[in-house]
Amino acid sequence: MERNAEKEKRYLRERSRRYIVGCAVLACVLITGVFLFFEAKEKTEEIEKSFVINKYLQNRDYLIYGANENSPPVRFVDTDGVYKGVVVDYMSLLALELGVEIRTEPYKWEDALQNLREGKTDICDMYINDERARDYVFTDPIYNLRTGLIAMADTAFTFDDINTMCIATERGDYANYYMEKNFPDAELRYVGNVEEGIGLLIEEEVDAVIGDEPLLSYYMAQLEGEAEFRIINVALYEEPVVLAMPKDHAQLIPIMNQAIQKIKSQGSLEKIQQKWFGISTPLILVEPERKYLRIVFFGTLIAAAVIGIVSINNSSLKKLVRMRTAELEDSRNELQMIFDNIPEYILILDENQKIVNANKGILQHAGLSIGQCIGKPVSILEEKFQGKELEQAMNASFGRSGERQKFKNGRDIYELQAYPVDGKERGTLLTLRNVTLDEINRKQVLQSSKMMAIGELAAGMAHQIRNPLSIIRMHTYMLRESENLNEEDCRSLTYIDENVQKAGRIIDNVMNFWHISGNQIEHVKLRRCINSILGLYENPMKKKSIRVEVRCDEAMSFFCNEESLKHILMNLVANAVDAMDYGGSLFLSGDRKGQEVVITCQDNGCGISEENMENLFNPFFTTKDPGKGTGLGLFVVYSEVEKLSGKISVESREGRGTCFTILLPNREEA
Ligand code: ADP
Ligand code: MG
Repeated sequence: MERNAEKEKRYLRERSRRYIVGCAVLACVLITGVFLFFEAKEKTEEIEKSFVINKYLQNRDYLIYGANENSPPVRFVDTDGVYKGVVVDYMSLLALELGVEIRTEPYKWEDALQNLREGKTDICDMYINDERARDYVFTDPIYNLRTGLIAMADTAFTFDDINTMCIATERGDYANYYMEKNFPDAELRYVGNVEEGIGLLIEEEVDAVIGDEPLLSYYMAQLEGEAEFRIINVALYEEPVVLAMPKDHAQLIPIMNQAIQKIKSQGSLEKIQQKWFGISTPLILVEPERKYLRIVFFGTLIAAAVIGIVSINNSSLKKLVRMRTAELEDSRNELQMIFDNIPEYILILDENQKIVNANKGILQHAGLSIGQCIGKPVSILEEKFQGKELEQAMNASFGRSGERQKFKNGRDIYELQAYPVDGKERGTLLTLRNVTLDEINRKQVLQSSKMMAIGELAAGMAHQIRNPLSIIRMHTYMLRESENLNEEDCRSLTYIDENVQKAGRIIDNVMNFWHISGNQIEHVKLRRCINSILGLYENPMKKKSIRVEVRCDEAMSFFCNEESLKHILMNLVANAVDAMDYGGSLFLSGDRKGQEVVITCQDNGCGISEENMENLFNPFFTTKDPGKGTGLGLFVVYSEVEKLSGKISVESREGRGTCFTILLPNREEA
């Protein structure tokens, strides 16, 4: 059992190792598959993108970005006449990503918006509002931009004063829409661009100028020394800046979004920012880069796969363990069932000769439950085994592996064998077998072989006695013929003749009885058979002056095993003779009753008491003195009747007599 459990564990370990390796290979294949899928997806998107762009551009091979000419550093025309700035650089990146040239054209802000609406340009960067949403379609945000107010450094305006202020704002700018909505009482002065507004501020014609923070910072830096400005409190708003396109460009939006996403993930906008601001300002909406996202995604995927594999493995291991436990339980039950159903009695004792386990057979015999026996000494069974024989036999068999010890207990004979148990715990296995029947059979075989030998001897002797008898008979006959015989001589001769006849009958009986017929069924003349048995008991019957009556037709015959029948009759007659005192009477009958033959043997002897009736056919049951009875006679009768497929019954009254009735199948047709 122990070794099996160890094997089972090793098997489970091996199995789980193989399972983990299998799962790891599967996970690798899965991850590679996902990578390849993304790769293929990117390729397909690339092809789709160029197809859509080419279809859209038709006979052009470039896109036009048109936006504000004067909002440094976002986009502006420099003193050298070149249109530059953050978004202009961004367009170069976008061109690279899209794989198409983007030409940049500076306009006044209002014109830039108008051109885009009319489709003269393709792209412009801006905030979103409802009005613009009517004319354009938008991409995802490219960065977040804060808008604020700038005032002269010596003024004390705060955010709360906005509604009372006069503020310069660029025509067409999103700020106008914002101000009208949130600060309706503020006085707005529309200007061409922020630079013009700052001029008005310096001349104190307005209280403040509204503009994007990078732009305001740019001018503050430019005009340092000439005038001192300050940015009022916190930003007015922070809005995402998107790329707008004419409404009929909608099909380009997904492609633009992809390119924007890619630029973000590469961190290129940050580099542009550093170029224009020297530092990484919060111009960009800081989003986790896609590359990192992918790493996180795959990391999570692998972790999930590992956790999944481990938990699947765990649960499958648990399932396996449950299965194996059930199997073990089944095989344990099976073993226990076999242990319980072995006809021999089995006891397992520990080193101190206390009971560890006992099978059903011995428990039932002892009338105890397993709970009552475990941990108790074997003497607990002694009550059932009456006496110390069991303990003595046990003591004798300990240490002699497998040696048989026989002991008699009541009417039964037991055989005990002990085997040492070499396991985790040392102990002894005891088997106890009721061998009474075996003993009887053994004795019977011995007896019958003895009888056979005696029988053959007797038959031989009888045969040899026949010759001298016939010589005697012949000579008495010759003597009778002589004329000088007196009366006394004649009486002597008659006496001799009678005794010679008697000796002849005895010899006939002996010869008949021992006539070997084997086991086969033969034609049996019942009357003749009865007579030959009675002949054997003539002498003892005469001594007791027993009157015999036989009621059986001379011609009555049936098919039966004659030897068995003789055994039956002999034992019944012997018991009847034993049971009767002087002057008893024995009545034997044989008759047909339908399909059966009925044989009765009735005596008027001592009878059988009720308590003895129960044990009558048991082997070794005898009420006779030692040396006179063996207690096997009726047992043999019973066995033989069974063998002939017949039935036996007995009626008896103590002091009045006994009648045995035997029913045998009439096998005449056989
Ligand atoms: P045994 O004759 O050696 O004692 P049996 O088996 O032939 O053994 O008989 C068992 C017992 O049954 C006898 O000892 C006797 O007590 C009882 N018994 C058998 N036949 C008769 C009978 N005809 N009358 C009274 N008792 C009988
Ligand atoms: Mg007998």
